[in-house]
Amino acid sequence: MFRQGEPGDAAYVIETGLIEIYTEQGESRASIAHLGPNSILGEMALFGDADRAASAQALAPTQLLRLTADHLRERLEGAEPLTRHLLHVLVARCRELLERANAGPSPAGPAVQAPAAADLGSDRALAFGRLRAEQDIEQALADEQFQLHFQPILRFADQSVAGYEALIRWVKPDGSRVSPGDFIPVAEASELICRIGRWVVRVAVDSLLQLDQAQRQLQPGSPALFITVNLSARQLHDPELLPLLAAQAQRLQGRDCRLKIEVTESLMIGNVALMQAFIARCGELGLPVVLDDFGTGYCSLSYLHLFKVQTMKLDRSFVRGMAESPASEKVVRGIVAIAHDLGLDIVAEGIETEQQAAQAAAMGVDYAQGYHFGRPGPLAEAMAQLGQ
Ligand code: C2E
Ligand code: MG
Ligand code: MG
Repeated sequence: MFRQGEPGDAAYVIETGLIEIYTEQGESRASIAHLGPNSILGEMALFGDADRAASAQALAPTQLLRLTADHLRERLEGAEPLTRHLLHVLVARCRELLERANAGPSPAGPAVQAPAAADLGSDRALAFGRLRAEQDIEQALADEQFQLHFQPILRFADQSVAGYEALIRWVKPDGSRVSPGDFIPVAEASELICRIGRWVVRVAVDSLLQLDQAQRQLQPGSPALFITVNLSARQLHDPELLPLLAAQAQRLQGRDCRLKIEVTESLMIGNVALMQAFIARCGELGLPVVLDDFGTGYCSLSYLHLFKVQTMKLDRSFVRGMAESPASEKVVRGIVAIAHDLGLDIVAEGIETEQQAAQAAAMGVDYAQGYHFGRPGPLAEAMAQLGQ
């Protein structure tokens, strides 16, 4: 099949037959293995471009499946950089061991060319960078470096605060800040997002209870406040999430203040059945679900009837576009009409100017969120605003 020292570009899976793997050194020949059906051989050719470390010959009529380096590359592209890098390290170690076994102790220096291709180097950088970032996040959780900030969501009708979106903040011990746009995607690649998500839910409910109490004293009789928390896809698979939500719903019972869960369109569309079950369970617990960032994904209005969400948040790209072109304004007007028809409340996100606020209000949007009305701030700030 192939000879030791030849360049290799494929591995083989034996479907039927028998293959011998052997090495040759001058006159001497050493049989390494006899492989039968379902064995794989030549796999090291899939990683890097080192030559075949041994020869292979069929000892019986044999049928093989061929697996090329390209096949593997395609599959590994979607894998974690760390997984890819570990594979390459393991293969290099195997080669080294094999060569040593063949040639005796090697001279100084690496016995095997380390995988030198540029993409392997960037894999390593990516893998180690991500590992470092994950460990930093883990440490940040242990050291309580995360905070929740709260951004007010106002009723257009009377400009009163209806509730808050809870947004996570990471403040490092040296005072520097890491944006959630940078660390949430890293956390989402592992279980860390589930731990972060559970922390967010607990702290959000603690905060809601404090805000609720303050509001009852300051503005007796005013409608109850809500807090929204953001959910990531992996959290749908967190077995601790629903029990935690149930326990938190219990804490909120007897009050009409609310915890709401924000999910994005892409999260819904990627997990239709799971999401429907999740929303149904949230409904039983009295926790409304909010469709976040509408307009950044597929804008599939047709999906809205599949998911029993209570609120739609129009992404700020819509809000910005609305002020810039009459056509966008018509699109938003249409979306607002359909969402209202379906019984949804609408929040316009990212309102930064008086003009945007006026436009959104004129369209019948129910709630507003954005720097024009208030930036995300710590709980103390939200409490102080309640008194104003
Ligand atoms: P999001 O859920 O769409 O949150 C709204 C983002 O828009 C926040 O950014 C907020 O600070 C920002 N924003 C609010 N008003 C304005 C405005 O008028 N103009 C502009 N330019 N931006 C505005 P932030 O806090 O940086 O969060 C970014 C994203 O990170 C969030 O987008 C959310 O997807 C994610 N995130 C934040 N906290 C959490 C969390 O606790 N869990 C999860 N899974 N994701 C979170
Ligand atoms: Mg959100
Ligand atoms: Mg949003």
